[in-house]
Amino acid sequence: MSAFLRRRLGWKLFFSYFIVTLVGIVVLASAVEYIMPSAFERHMATMATTMASASPQLADDLLANFRRAVNESLMLSVLAAFLAALIVSVIISRQIVTPVRRMMSVSQRIAEGHYNERVAVPADVPWGDMDELARLAVSFNQMAARLEQTETTRRELIGNVAHELRTPLAAIRAQLEGLLDEVLPADSATFQPLYRETDRMQRLVHDLQELSRIESGSFDLNLRPTSVTQLVDTTVARLRHQFEEKGVQLSSDVPSNLPLVRVDEGRIGQVLLNLVGNALQYTPEGGQVRLTACRQGAEVHLRVTDTGIGIAAEHLSLIFTRFYRVDRSRSRPGGGSGIGLTIAQHLVEAHGGRIWAESAGPGYGSTFTVTLPIVSQPPT
Ligand code: ADP
Repeated sequence: MSAFLRRRLGWKLFFSYFIVTLVGIVVLASAVEYIMPSAFERHMATMATTMASASPQLADDLLANFRRAVNESLMLSVLAAFLAALIVSVIISRQIVTPVRRMMSVSQRIAEGHYNERVAVPADVPWGDMDELARLAVSFNQMAARLEQTETTRRELIGNVAHELRTPLAAIRAQLEGLLDEVLPADSATFQPLYRETDRMQRLVHDLQELSRIESGSFDLNLRPTSVTQLVDTTVARLRHQFEEKGVQLSSDVPSNLPLVRVDEGRIGQVLLNLVGNALQYTPEGGQVRLTACRQGAEVHLRVTDTGIGIAAEHLSLIFTRFYRVDRSRSRPGGGSGIGLTIAQHLVEAHGGRIWAESAGPGYGSTFTVTLPIVSQPPT
């Protein structure tokens, strides 16, 4: 019985109401039993003397009858209290237990993998006017939406990784089959593509590891006042040789009076390397890539502008989504996986900055802008 009660909120409510009324009635009954006779005697004292002289039995009969009348009304009160407790507990438990049960069944469905299930919440009721149960339902739905989103991301990630690995693995397998069947000679021309594809897979694994570390926030930023000129010069120096090899012109223009920015030099260097590397990648021979910087309020805006293939308007905001590539079919010798800009966005936002892309359209080049917070000057 106690186990049954422990598991049922509706019955718990009913018994708690019933016990409260029962205690009230017991107290009342005890008062009738022990206090009422003396009070009766006190108040009827004068009348009793008259009545006792008339008939000694009459006073006792009067008390007994009065007691019976009170007990009868107490019995009726118990019945009425029982019914009232039953009705009130049914109404209240409907209001409390039903939504809780609904949440229970929805959470079970979610646990079974139906992530799109939601609890019905009163429509058009502002948060401030909701009771605790309605607020619980809203929070529950928010949690379910987050779970659904995480699950979708997880599935997409597995699909994307599988897709990214399939191409290099198929190429490696084809080369190895040729070698095994002795159709291909065991020379450097055969091994070169094998090396290229394993290199591509290694980059992908490295990018994925980096992305997972950055997305989970498990990286430290060593923020220091840094010169923008130094950031730009380091990037230019690291990529100059590759630009010369491809025949793309690389130039920079950073005003010497720019304030210092508060950044992790290594991380922002990584972002710039990615942006300038992409600019080189998507700019044909004879094109130009330019790095510029200027102050805008409490920020420095760093721009990487190229005269390359450009980006159509519908892709501009999507290229920061992981694995997104404008032209999926285009094979990149370096093996781009579409993760670079996602990592760059996370890193820039971790510094309190923003990153976005602009382009006048395919064939008109692109500009990537990164904003970085300047070192705040102490008030003079
Ligand atoms: P990837 O490794 O494929 O370059 P990114 O995340 O760095 O991945 O870039 C995502 C996509 O954005 C690229 O595949 C490309 O389609 C587009 N993109 C990035 N930079 C440029 C650019 N400078 N010009 C044109 N398209 C670009």
